[in-house]
Amino acid sequence: MTALELISLVTQVLFVGLFVAVLWHAIRHPTRARTDTALLFGSIVAVVVLSRAFQWLGVAEQPWAVGVLLLTLNVAPYAMIRLVDDFSGTAAWVRVAGAAALVVIGLISLVGFATAPVIVEIATIVWFLAVGGYAAIAFAREARRTRGITRRRMAAVAIGAALFIAAIVLVFLGALASNDTVMLSVLTQLFALAAVLAFFLGFAPPSWIRRAWREPDLRAFLERSVHLTGVADDRQAIADLQRAAADTFGASGAAIGIADPDRPVLRYVGRDGEWVEYPNDAFVGGRTFQAQHRMVVMDAVGADPDNAAAYERAGAHTVIAAPVSAEGRRIGVLTVYADRAPIFIEDDLWLLELLADQTAVLLEARALTTQASELRGREEAARLKEEFLSAAAHDLRTPLTVVLGQAELIERRLLRDPSAPVDPAGIARMAREARHLRDLVSELLDAQRLEQGLTVMELAPADLGSIVEAVRARHADHGVPLVLDGPDEALVASVDRPRLEQVIENLLENAYKYGADDKPPALRIWQEGAEARIAVVDHGAGIADGERERIFERFYRAPRARGITDTGMGLGLYICRRIVEEHGGRIWAERTPTGGATFVIALALEPEAPSEFVRHAHEAPTWPSTAGNEAVADA
Ligand code: ADP
Repeated sequence: MTALELISLVTQVLFVGLFVAVLWHAIRHPTRARTDTALLFGSIVAVVVLSRAFQWLGVAEQPWAVGVLLLTLNVAPYAMIRLVDDFSGTAAWVRVAGAAALVVIGLISLVGFATAPVIVEIATIVWFLAVGGYAAIAFAREARRTRGITRRRMAAVAIGAALFIAAIVLVFLGALASNDTVMLSVLTQLFALAAVLAFFLGFAPPSWIRRAWREPDLRAFLERSVHLTGVADDRQAIADLQRAAADTFGASGAAIGIADPDRPVLRYVGRDGEWVEYPNDAFVGGRTFQAQHRMVVMDAVGADPDNAAAYERAGAHTVIAAPVSAEGRRIGVLTVYADRAPIFIEDDLWLLELLADQTAVLLEARALTTQASELRGREEAARLKEEFLSAAAHDLRTPLTVVLGQAELIERRLLRDPSAPVDPAGIARMAREARHLRDLVSELLDAQRLEQGLTVMELAPADLGSIVEAVRARHADHGVPLVLDGPDEALVASVDRPRLEQVIENLLENAYKYGADDKPPALRIWQEGAEARIAVVDHGAGIADGERERIFERFYRAPRARGITDTGMGLGLYICRRIVEEHGGRIWAERTPTGGATFVIALALEPEAPSEFVRHAHEAPTWPSTAGNEAVADA
């Protein structure tokens, strides 16, 4: 046996094997596409078997025998047209013309071979090139349209068809060319072998190849969806998952229904992105959920006429669905719908079940993440409450101890001698500590109300310069030195005046507390773009770089501050920030260039200052001179 004969034998055996495989499929799960596939390989195998039989009988050279072989062989391109129709649909005239042409070519083959073999050979070449070529191109186009395994299988079918057509055309060219045809025979055999291998991949791929082909699709789906465990909005996450599932199949759409634990409904994300509920037995999805096994409905409209309109709207002609469940718990259902029946439905179902499993894992992971963050939230709330209580207890105890100690002292003294004179210093200390106590309690309440959003700001246009000036004047009245540097023009912003004054007071209080004893703090106000800026500048120890943000947190006190003073709960700046933010503004800390801390408040200016605030240059208030205050000048 020559090498060429060996290749030929292997090719023929492979074609027989492929035929048996597709026939077995077609018998077990008959569909039109499977029957047509069996017809395609049946015709090829018939040619192989008949030609061997004719050779054995010694009639291979008889014109009638050649005619029968030709007729059988010509069925193959016709079967391909039928397959094109099964896979992607063809115009009715193509199918009719194909059948008519088969009859004509069959007659020519049978009747004409004895008289005019060359004409029959040329007619066969044309028939194969025209019809087979058309089918190969249609398969290739279908491969480009589809996704995933279907695309790969379809591409293999297209390549197989093209190689097969080429091999047959070469056979007939060889017959026409009477002289040396060894080269043509080698090419023919190689093309035929490659064709049957490609057909094997397309029509009956072994499962290890399918697994390898499926893997990238699955990975792409996971890569696209894994971040969804962190997406806060459930509807958004489900809509994204649906899109990823539909894209994996190249389908017109996908829907994920989530079962309600308490009611017999499935919740879907509608077209407008809102939840929609349907009874948990409605649609193919509902039936799949009830049955808890995958379902294929080739004609959804026909199978479920009550919901025909909904299927039409979604372009859902064929629907495949699989239950989404984890460890026996029914989570929901994944439905994929397409306008055309899947080409290789067994692969699609396989993939669908895998995606349903992955969807279950992703939904479970989301639920766990949500639970964990709720738990973290609760823990955080508990921690804050604890922090709040211990800070409050600690800070309130000191002044309370003084008040109580002082009161008990007076009590004892009066018990001993009711006519004893009162101790003004002791009473003053008691009053001072009681006031401090009151301030701490209001700070606590203030922080809590702001936190819970219970504080209503009453915003009204006001000249910020006059607010800053009022604060300065108050401090001057108490004999506290403070320098102020301000603009000539009114800076009008919409503010809650008492609240803004509270913020400035608070910052000033800190500036005294943490500032330098020998250098008074300064207040500055100026305009920067569309904003007014108010700054409180001190020359104290300042704030470490890493703490400029943290000092605005609730109860946070810089370690350095504890050494300076023990009075303070670390709520003042938190309150300041909340109030400023309620005004739509910002507050931050910077370093005073000459050392110390500068706190800046930025507030948006009113675009048009109401006339009562328009200040003219000659009315400019008499700001105290800032000459000699280099910190302010530098700042
Ligand atoms: P309290 O002053 O009651 O501790 P605050 O919220 O007002 O609370 O301030 C928080 C922390 O910010 C203070 O403990 C201190 O460490 C730091 N801080 C605030 N103002 C200044 C400042 N002017 N200079 C240096 N550190 C400051």
